[in-house]
Amino acid sequence: MKDPLCPDVVVVGAGIAGLTAALELCARGASVRVWSRDDPKHTTSAVAGAIWYPFLAEPRERIVALGEASLRHLKALAADPATGVHLEPVVEVFRGPPDLWWSSSVSRPQLLPPDDVPLGYDAAVRLEVPICDAPVFLAWLVDRLAARGVQIERRELASIEPAFAVADTVVNCSGLGARELCGDSSLFAVRGQVLVCEDLPVDAAWIDDTGARPSYFIPRRGELIVGGTAQHDDARLEPDGFDTAAILAGVAHRLPALGPQHVRAARVGMRPCRPSLRLEAEDLPGGRRLVHDYGHGGSGFTIAHGCAEVVADLVLAPRE
Ligand SMILES: Cc1cc2nc3c(=O)[nH]c(=O)nc-3n(C[C@H](O)[C@H](O)[C@H](O)COP(=O)(O)OP(=O)(O)OC[C@H]3O[C@@H](n4cnc5c(N)ncnc54)[C@H](O)[C@@H]3O)c2cc1C
Repeated sequence: MKDPLCPDVVVVGAGIAGLTAALELCARGASVRVWSRDDPKHTTSAVAGAIWYPFLAEPRERIVALGEASLRHLKALAADPATGVHLEPVVEVFRGPPDLWWSSSVSRPQLLPPDDVPLGYDAAVRLEVPICDAPVFLAWLVDRLAARGVQIERRELASIEPAFAVADTVVNCSGLGARELCGDSSLFAVRGQVLVCEDLPVDAAWIDDTGARPSYFIPRRGELIVGGTAQHDDARLEPDGFDTAAILAGVAHRLPALGPQHVRAARVGMRPCRPSLRLEAEDLPGGRRLVHDYGHGGSGFTIAHGCAEVVADLVLAPRE
């Protein structure tokens, strides 16, 4: 039900940030439209392994707080299989003392006793986290919005201005698109390649960020996502055969049964990175408000709900 005191809002972007923000705004009574250049299935968000794990996003203190809010929310969603979110143990390994900058009383990583630390590492933690089957979760969010009468409108913008022609509040969830939409030259892409593999049995997800490239596997319903890469200054959207081989080699000691014959597809996405997440409101002349929610780096699914709550607070905050 639309609240007559709530502003009309256009959300630009239908990746995890835009869809989550739009749904939160609907829940708070706003009348929402979502404009997106791409179908949600063809966004960076659709490529993600989408495990709850803070990675390549700053500033850390804020990411931890936003991640805690999202963790609680995703854990609740995991009770409904239709969401595509499920809970899974994950083991992260370290060389030297564990760097747990992201840990909190909500995520509660458990340090493994020395005898349980995998061979070749100095330390390891285990925790239970939500894993989102990204395409399923994005489709579920689209369905939830449709149930509230909100369709994804396919529109490519050259600037934010056309959105202000239909609403006096605009939420900018355009990811890397913000480079052009608001001239943000501090945004940069970090290339990620993942392999969608056949479903090999594993007893936990795995994260090893101790080497030159991040190495991980994430079980999803009926498939295993294996990664990865984090390549700066690399704009290639095509999967690379050398990366595929390196990704398989990176997990071979942990998953010796996995080979090229198990790879169903290789996918590439560009993480929207920024020295600092942009989550703030700009009040513009004529009573217009522009709320920015982008620069989520490698943590879009990990912080989206926390960001959406802040977006809704900023949209609804009184204006001068
Ligand atoms: C390989 C890989 C693995 C990852 N794994 C994880 C993980 O395990 N956990 C995690 O939390 N995160 C992970 N991430 C990061 C996560 O995918 C991103 O942080 C997240 O997708 C960013 O979401 P977004 O909605 O901001 O951007 P996007 O998904 O890029 O969406 C941007 C939206 O803006 C629209 N748009 C852009 N420009 C315009 C324009 N001019 N006009 C109209 N619309 C426009 C696009 O069409 C799109 O709808 C991973 C990323 C990659 C690449």
